[in-house]
Amino acid sequence: QLTKDRNPILSKLETRAITDGLTKLYNLRHFYNQLEIEIDRSNRYGHPLALLLLDIDNFKTYNDTYGHLEGDKVLVKLGQIITSCLRTMDCAYRHGGEEFTIIIPETTGEEAKNVAHRIKTTVEIENFVPASGNIVKITVSIGVTEYFTKETLATVIQSADRALYKSKAKDRNTISFLL
Ligand code: GH3
Ligand code: MG
Ligand code: MG
Repeated sequence: QLTKDRNPILSKLETRAITDGLTKLYNLRHFYNQLEIEIDRSNRYGHPLALLLLDIDNFKTYNDTYGHLEGDKVLVKLGQIITSCLRTMDCAYRHGGEEFTIIIPETTGEEAKNVAHRIKTTVEIENFVPASGNIVKITVSIGVTEYFTKETLATVIQSADRALYKSKAKDRNTISFLL
């Protein structure tokens, strides 16, 4: 019988199915699977669980000004920045388009704000250099939330989404927290 461990081709296909082709982060499908697992774990052991939702500010303007390919490079770099700001237990996903999610197990919303700050600051100091040669600054808006026991997957995502919306309304480049 073929198993993932014994068959490198199967394993490769399986990895591809949960990976975003551009950023090499995990994709939305894997996000939902992992969030479900972490929610179960949180309910079972009563451990905290935090969720971050991140969206690039005014990214349409960047694409319109420097082109879609340069925009893609920003997405790749941002994926690397986010990953560099996380601990081994935390995991980043491309949520779609120019949005990213981060699942932070064993962590309260309060602590997760520190992770959000680390990402926000690291993006702020990064220089993006599109083919035109000039240095361009990028900012991100972040929504932070904490899972509460017996809450559904849909509502915890909704909370992160509302927090993100709040950051956008507060002139962007901002972190907001909502339960
Ligand atoms: P806001 O600060 O409100 O988020 O403004 P925004 O311009 O970032 O948001 P909007 O939703 O208006 O536009 C999102 C843009 O993201 C539109 C699209 O050009 C860009 N985008 C989405 N996915 C990709 C992608 O895979 N590659 C590139 N280069 N751009 C993408
Ligand atoms: Mg968006
Ligand atoms: Mg955006």
